[in-house]
Amino acid sequence: MIKILLHICWIALLTLLTQIGGIVWILSLVLSGILKAKCPVRGLTWFVFISFYLLATFFIVPPLARLSGRVPLPVFENPRLRPENIWFCILNRTYVRPGLRQALEAVAQQMQARFPGAVVWYMDANFPFIDGYPLEPHFSHRDGKKVDLSFYWTENKTSQTVAGNPSPFGYGVFAGPRPGERDYAKACEEKGYWYIGLDGDLAAPFFRAENYTFDAERTSELLRRLAAHPAVSRLLIQPHLKTRLGLAAYDKIRFQGCKAARHDDHVHVELR
Ligand SMILES: [Zn+2]
Repeated sequence: MIKILLHICWIALLTLLTQIGGIVWILSLVLSGILKAKCPVRGLTWFVFISFYLLATFFIVPPLARLSGRVPLPVFENPRLRPENIWFCILNRTYVRPGLRQALEAVAQQMQARFPGAVVWYMDANFPFIDGYPLEPHFSHRDGKKVDLSFYWTENKTSQTVAGNPSPFGYGVFAGPRPGERDYAKACEEKGYWYIGLDGDLAAPFFRAENYTFDAERTSELLRRLAAHPAVSRLLIQPHLKTRLGLAAYDKIRFQGCKAARHDDHVHVELR
């Protein structure tokens, strides 16, 4: 009985994190049950699951997702638009409408004019299937029209731009308010939205904030290019950054409010 309950929890977790993982686990249980009769090897279910999952993720899901109007963001094929962490791709969290992929590719290309070699680093986007199916823990990444992009950071020791950002999972390295800037995150936490800075607590043990400097110039360029793209309807960031980066004139750049996680570690981009 406990074993069945554990399987149900595991299937639910896989489904929440990857959309297809739960179904692949069920298929793997069935297939490994058949195979075990002939060849009783330890770890067979895991072997079948990992093989099936990777096969599905890289060869079966992309063409099926295209049928439902979503495409994966480039994994290796565009050196200017890359995943901040390959796990976003492995977990099937990088699907978007074709128009959003085109907009990101165009912006990544435009970035080269001022910052040759610049890469636009994407993080969570949407799952491959079903409008309305949310990508946890994000509220709105459910229709193929949303994607989160990393801000830019410089490593102090080398003065080099960080590949991706210093967080091990992409989120939680905040370009927080400076003295004199209004702290919207703190104001939200005081209203009871205690979880909005949780990513920062999770990332904190894995990097030293004093080793990195927020690259305001490069981040501002990215935000301006995105805001100027006609296919982009809305960008969400913390208001203190909108002011600091001189973006007050861009109506598309807004505050996400208190319900969603704070947005001074990434920009949330929406397709029109
Ligand atoms: Zn988002």
